[in-house]
Amino acid sequence: MIGMTELSDFCMAAVIVSLLSVGIVVNKGLARRKNKILLFLVLDCFVAAAMTAIGQYIPSMDLDPISADLAIKICLYIYHAFHSIFAILFVMYVIEAAGQWHEMTWTWLILLILPTIIFLIALAFNPETNWVFTVYDMAYYRGEGIYMEYAFAMIDFLIVIALMLVFRNAIGRVKLFRMAGFFFLSMIGVVVQMLIPEYNVEMFIESVSLIGLVALIENLDELINPTTNLYNKETFLLDNKQFIATRIEYAVLVIRLNKYEHMVTALGAAPILEITKDIAAWIHENATTTDCYDLENGVFAVILRNKKTDHESLIQKFFERFSESWTCNDLAIQFNTDLFYLNIPQDMNSINEIMSVLGAQPDDNSGGVRVLRGEKLSFIKRESMVEAALRRGLKEDALKVFYQPIFDTKQGVIHSAEALARFEDSELGYINPEEFIHVAEKSALIPDVGERVFEIVCRDISSGKLADAGIDFVEVNLSPVQCMKEDLDKDFQKIMQRYGVTTDDINLEVTESAVEMDSRVFFETIDKLKKLGFHFSLDDYGTGISNISSLFNMKFHIIKIDKSILWNADKSDSARMILDSIIRMILSLNIKIVTEGVETEFHKDMLTSAGVEYLQGYLFSAPVELDKFVRITKEYNRLNSENG
Ligand code: C2E
Ligand code: CA
Ligand code: CA
Repeated sequence: MIGMTELSDFCMAAVIVSLLSVGIVVNKGLARRKNKILLFLVLDCFVAAAMTAIGQYIPSMDLDPISADLAIKICLYIYHAFHSIFAILFVMYVIEAAGQWHEMTWTWLILLILPTIIFLIALAFNPETNWVFTVYDMAYYRGEGIYMEYAFAMIDFLIVIALMLVFRNAIGRVKLFRMAGFFFLSMIGVVVQMLIPEYNVEMFIESVSLIGLVALIENLDELINPTTNLYNKETFLLDNKQFIATRIEYAVLVIRLNKYEHMVTALGAAPILEITKDIAAWIHENATTTDCYDLENGVFAVILRNKKTDHESLIQKFFERFSESWTCNDLAIQFNTDLFYLNIPQDMNSINEIMSVLGAQPDDNSGGVRVLRGEKLSFIKRESMVEAALRRGLKEDALKVFYQPIFDTKQGVIHSAEALARFEDSELGYINPEEFIHVAEKSALIPDVGERVFEIVCRDISSGKLADAGIDFVEVNLSPVQCMKEDLDKDFQKIMQRYGVTTDDINLEVTESAVEMDSRVFFETIDKLKKLGFHFSLDDYGTGISNISSLFNMKFHIIKIDKSILWNADKSDSARMILDSIIRMILSLNIKIVTEGVETEFHKDMLTSAGVEYLQGYLFSAPVELDKFVRITKEYNRLNSENG
C-alpha cells in the first residue's frame, strides 16, 4: 500500500469547477454539435470529481465503520471507472476535432479503448485482489494497479500528442492552442498527483483545464443560423477548409432553390420564411447526417462523409421531395431546384470552387429539379477557365472588335455600325461574347475589356476607313458594371483625345436591364458621359419591364428593339400587334428606332413600312472585321445608290 489521502478543499473546488463546465457546455449548446464527446468529457470529469469529494466527506459522517468503508469503496470504484475513461474521451475529442471520425474502424476503436477495458477488468476484480486500491478503516490505500491506470493514461496522452502533430493543419491553430493548453495543464495534474498523492489536486487541475477548454470554444449561436437551426455559411466554409486540409474524400450536396428572392418579392417574406424552415427541417431529418448547412437565400448544403453508395439513394430521395411542392397555409410553392452533387476533391478541390457553385447558372433552362454532377459540373470550371483566358487575352492584346452594319431605311444605305467584341483564346478557342462579357462582369475585368474595345473603335475611326465607307457613327456597348466606374468619362476622354475622335463619332449603348438596376453611380456616370457630349441608345428594349416614360426621361436618341420581339412577331398575330404598338409608341416620342435581328426581306419591308428608321441584322451582314466590313458596306451602298 502506498500512501493515504486526506480531506482536501481541492476536491470540493473540483466538483464546483467541473459542474460549471457542464453548465457551459449545455448553455452553449455544444452538446448539440456534431458529437457529444465534449458533453461526455465534462460529465465524466464531474462524476469523478464528485466521487472523490463524497469519498473524502464520508469519514466525517458518523457512520458505523463497516457501512462507511462500503460507501467509500463505492465512491472509489465509480471514481476509478470514470477517471480511467477520461483520457480516452479526450483522444476521441481530438480525433473529432481533426475531422478524422469517419476514418475510425471498429478495429481501431477497439485497439484504442483496449487499455481502458483491461483496467476496468482489473477494477472489477479489485474486491478480491485489492490490486488497484483498498479501503481499510475509512482510509484509502493505493495499490500497484494504480500505476497501470497512469501508464494507460500516458499511452492515450502520447496518442493525443501524435494526433495534434499530424493533424495540426486540419485542427487549426486556435483549436490546437486551446487543446495543447488543456493537455499540458492536465499532465501537470497527473504528475503532481502521482508524486504527492496527499494533495489530491489531480481532479482539481483537470477540471480547471477542462473549463478553460470549453469556455474558449465557439458558442453554438455563432455556428448556426437561428431561423433554420442549421449550421451557417461560416461553419460551412470552416468545415470544408478543414476537410480539404486533411485531404479526405467526401461529397457535398448543394440544394439551391432558384429564383428564391424573386419568390420573396412576389409572395411576401413571411410565407417563404415558413417554407424555408420546413425545407430546412426536412433536410435535417432526411440527410442521414447532422452536417446540414443553411447558406442563405434558399441555398442549403449537406456534407456527406459516409460511404459513396449511400449517396445515390439520398440524391434520389432529395430529387423526389423537391419535385413536389412545399405548402404554407393555402399556398403551395414549387421551387425550380438545382441539386449539385460535388465529389471532393475529384470535382472541386478548393473552397473557391465549391462556393462558385452557389451562383453558377447552367445553360439549359428547363425547370423542375435538376441534378448536376460529374460532367454537368464542368461549366463551373469553364467560368474560371474563361476568366484566366481573358486575363491572358488582355495581356497579349488578343481582344478584337467586329462591326455589324446598321441600315438606314430612309436613305437606303448603311449609315452606322455596331462594334462587337470578339475573343479567340489560344487554348479555349473562340469564346462567345455573351459568355466572356458575363465572366468579365463577374470577375471585375469588364472595365479593362470595355476600355480596350473603346480604344480599338477610336483607332478604327481615326483610320478614316469607316467614314470613307459612309459610316456616320459607331455604336459601342457599355456594360452596366463598367458604368460603376466613377471616372469612366475621363478614361474615355483621354482615349478620344489620343485618336482625335469626338463624341459625335460614337453612340453608347446601355441595356434596358441596366437602366432598371436603378443605381446611383450608374446614372451619375451616364450623366457625366452625356455632359461630354455622348448620345445614348437603349439596347435590348422589350426584354425588361421598364416603363416607357422613365426611358423617355433618360433622353435616349435611339431605342433598339430586341430581336426576340421581331422574331416572335413572325410566329403569332398578337406578337405582331405588340411589335407594331411598340414601334408606334417610340415614334410618337420622337425617338429613333433600330430593330435588331433583321434576317429576311420580309422583315425589312414590314419594318420599313411601319416607319422604323434603322435596321440591323444578318440580312445586311453578320458582324465582321473592319476591312471586310468596309468592303461590304461600300459595295452595298454603291449598289443601292445606283439602284436608287
Ligand atoms: P447585343 O448588344 O444585343 O448585340 C447584338 C447581337 O445580336 C450580336 O451578338 C449580333 O451578332 C447579334 N445579331 C445581330 N443581328 C442578328 C441576326 O440577324 N440574327 C442573329 N441570330 N443574331 C444577330 P454577339 O456579337 O454575339 O454579341 C452578343 C452580346 O454580347 C451583345 O448583344 C452584347 O450584349 C455583348 N457584347 C458584345 N460586344 C460587347 C462589348 O464590346 N461590350 C459589352 N459590354 N458587351 C458586348
Ligand atoms: Ca448592343
Ligand atoms: Ca441588342
